Amino acid sequence: MTSLSPALKQATPVVVDHALGSWIHGTDGKDYLDFTTGIGVTSTGHCHPKVVAAAREQVGKIIHAQYTTVMHKPLLELTEKLGEVLPAGLDSVFYANSGSEAVEAAIRLARMATARPNIVVFQGGFHGRTVAAASLTTAGTKFSAGFSPLMAGVHMSAFPYAYRYGWDEAAAVRFALQELDYLLQTRTAPNDTAAFLIEPALGDGGYLPTPPAFMEGLRERADKYGIQLIFDEVQAGVGRMGKFWGHQYSRATPDILITAKGIASGFPISAIAASTETMSKAWPGSQGGTYGGNAVSAAAGVATLEVVKEENLVENSRIRGEQLLTGLKDIQTRFPVIGDVRGRGLMLGIEFTGEDGKPDASTAAAVQQATTDQGLLTLTCGPAGNVVRLIPALVVTAEEIAAGLDRFEAAV
Ligand code: PLP
Repeated sequence: MTSLSPALKQATPVVVDHALGSWIHGTDGKDYLDFTTGIGVTSTGHCHPKVVAAAREQVGKIIHAQYTTVMHKPLLELTEKLGEVLPAGLDSVFYANSGSEAVEAAIRLARMATARPNIVVFQGGFHGRTVAAASLTTAGTKFSAGFSPLMAGVHMSAFPYAYRYGWDEAAAVRFALQELDYLLQTRTAPNDTAAFLIEPALGDGGYLPTPPAFMEGLRERADKYGIQLIFDEVQAGVGRMGKFWGHQYSRATPDILITAKGIASGFPISAIAASTETMSKAWPGSQGGTYGGNAVSAAAGVATLEVVKEENLVENSRIRGEQLLTGLKDIQTRFPVIGDVRGRGLMLGIEFTGEDGKPDASTAAAVQQATTDQGLLTLTCGPAGNVVRLIPALVVTAEEIAAGLDRFEAAV
């Protein structure tokens, strides 16, 4: 009998029959409250009627038209809609299928725009699983061990992980910026450095918001040295963190922004945005792919951005996120195994630690398993695997958050 690759080992035993909004109905006949959303993808909830209708309509018009051969309407419409939400000055967009491909496109663009080779990444960053994206990923050895050599020209600097250092945030930011300055003096000179690549919150690296002052420190150095600042908003963007873009908690804006996941409610599409001047450095043929910017995905993307606006989902993410964070902090007071609770919007992490304060992956794994028994789907993350992450749909209701908190506490 043919079986699935062990690389596809599931975090839960659930097989989906159908799903709607925040709920997954399993083939076991049970209903599960889904706080995983396909790893932060089904932003408007499962099978939002408007997204389903847009995709159905598009399937009957044209499914695929390779975008360097003939253009299609949905991609033009999506580009216009993105223009309403992109940071000022990022007025040119390129499309791919996945987060990893968009990360690669951003790296290629930064290298072409600066004619410099090196990329600086930050400890705990996750940028994908293609060989180049895995080379930029430092969120755990499982993402790159065993298939070296990786891409050359990647340098890792410190991330201001205040909780783990036992410092306040300002001290952690000072330290991480000093480390970066040292790296630029000793390992990769500014005129060899094409880009800084950072997430507005570490995703697979532990659901840790990046301090605004750190983002601003990167912006200052990027301006000073002509380095491209790339924000990987693949997971944090499209309302996930309670603002449209995760980086909007800081005053820093990127030279290149990467988006994917939440942009089309589950249809595969990703994009990078940059200024027209920067984007013009990527000549025809240097970027692209057969399936990039698929018509059905783009139509779903247009519908998704409309739903996010019409249903005020960024605000819902902020408000429901506060409800969830407050509830989790309350649960933390009853369970000393919970060392830290953090996050913004609907991207929240619960870090499990032992009595010695060290990461406790086995408790996190046991809690994650137990949530499934309670009818709540969750995931773990973090380089040490000791963080349970909660990523509800942006349409989640107050009642669903309350039910999720009850089930989570029962699991702990
Ligand atoms: N960048 C970030 C921040 C991510 O969270 C992910 C996926 O989780 C990726 C890139 C890679 O995206 P994909 O899995 O679609 O290739």
